[in-house]
Amino acid sequence: MTTPPDEPHDLHPDTRAVRGGRDSCDPALAPVIWASSTFVSPSVDAAQAAATSVGTERFYSRYGNPTVADFERAVADLEGAEAARAYGSGMGAVTGVILGLCSQGDHIVATRQIYAATQLVLQVMCPRFGIDVTFVDGTEPGAMAAAVRPGKTMLVWAETPANPRLDLVDLDELGAIAGPMTVVDSTFATPFGQRPLAHGVDIVVHSATKAMAGHNDATLGVVATSAELVQWLTGFAVLHGAVASPYDAANGIRGLRTLPIRFARQSASALEVAGWLEKDGRVTEVRHPGLESHPQHDLAVRQMQATGGLVCFDLPGGIAAGRRFVDALELAQLATSLGGPETLVTHPASTTHVNLLPEELAAAGIGPGTIRLSVGLEHPDDIRADLARALDVVDGLA
Ligand SMILES: *Cc1c(COP(=O)(O)O)cnc(C)c1O
Repeated sequence: MTTPPDEPHDLHPDTRAVRGGRDSCDPALAPVIWASSTFVSPSVDAAQAAATSVGTERFYSRYGNPTVADFERAVADLEGAEAARAYGSGMGAVTGVILGLCSQGDHIVATRQIYAATQLVLQVMCPRFGIDVTFVDGTEPGAMAAAVRPGKTMLVWAETPANPRLDLVDLDELGAIAGPMTVVDSTFATPFGQRPLAHGVDIVVHSATKAMAGHNDATLGVVATSAELVQWLTGFAVLHGAVASPYDAANGIRGLRTLPIRFARQSASALEVAGWLEKDGRVTEVRHPGLESHPQHDLAVRQMQATGGLVCFDLPGGIAAGRRFVDALELAQLATSLGGPETLVTHPASTTHVNLLPEELAAAGIGPGTIRLSVGLEHPDDIRADLARALDVVDGLA
């Protein structure tokens, strides 16, 4: 028997990425942008039905929008979820989940290794609403489960691979936690690096601004989970309003088409660059989950299909060396973001984390000479040559 061609789940994920998210496009081949903020109802009965159903696509675009819904269906399919809800940014998705599911008196367990803005939501915003948060080391076996307060903990929040040192969380261990809902911010992995729901995790969150949309031209977030939870989150999203623009959703669908090959290439180039940096020996603490020297490399092999485009390392010369290194790069550009076609570099100690004291930096896993590299789609030899030249400058050889 051959596979029926109209049975999308019998197709490989790479194929589904190319073919998905087309329900509102027929017969256009490219995503159709439904720019309309509102839709004409044929009758009062139809308008009433739309106004009282959750996530309706052709009523008012804060509730739902055909282009956005196409993006949502494509992501849900790739994550193996029943449904998805898109947001106006990754932080829209993060906040939409946390404040959509937690109330005064609830408790959250979160991994300490986490995106800085997510950490602020948990550390500063949650207490304002009477939500208590416990941070644990996500790399320590059993730490997340041990921090759960039965009947009180509503969410266990993990990020893997995590900012900034690419620490991993064991997805099987997280998925096995009973009681609270478990969440993974899977931005660094995309559905082509890991599929958290297949490990029993309840909710996957992405900043689609990064590798998913993949071209630095969309600000977009998405949550994939059960249809029931998406209904609930949608009811809340209609009120807080951090909804996705159809223009960004169209760029998100466009990004998904090439995500499998972009992610594979970036993963391979990042591993090559990381291996070269390690051998070169002028930097320390080279981190990439695909390197055998990564403290959780076995876990990466067990739960990741590809390890992504990020590499982190330390320049022994501290702040001054970090600044000189970044300024000396010619190909890699200094910009905050990741997962796009261009290789980007950040020096957290002089930019995103400039206001932290040395001990706060250390607690965040950031050294004065820490460099984060998002390896792009350029030829890896050119990326390596750029890094080598900048290291020569730091060493005073050029
Ligand atoms: C960028 C990012 C976010 C926030 O996404 P925005 O689209 O910038 O709002 C959340 N989590 C991770 C891991 C990120 O890299």
